[in-house]
Amino acid sequence: MVHYICTGGCGQVSDLPATCNDKGCMKYHQPMTVCHCEDEKHVEAYENPNVTFEQ
Ligand SMILES: [Zn+2]
Ligand SMILES: [Zn+2]
Repeated sequence: MVHYICTGGCGQVSDLPATCNDKGCMKYHQPMTVCHCEDEKHVEAYENPNVTFEQ
């Protein structure tokens, strides 16, 4: 099922579209990446970090 992850290094995962809220993260305030993996490795998201939810 779809989830959203931050690929900036903080490791945040959300079930809903969101932006990163970790001030120390490279992608702070940037939209999280769409992922559909089922193994929690988020390979899809890391390979396509620019696929984010519609703003
Ligand atoms: Zn982040
Ligand atoms: Zn994933």
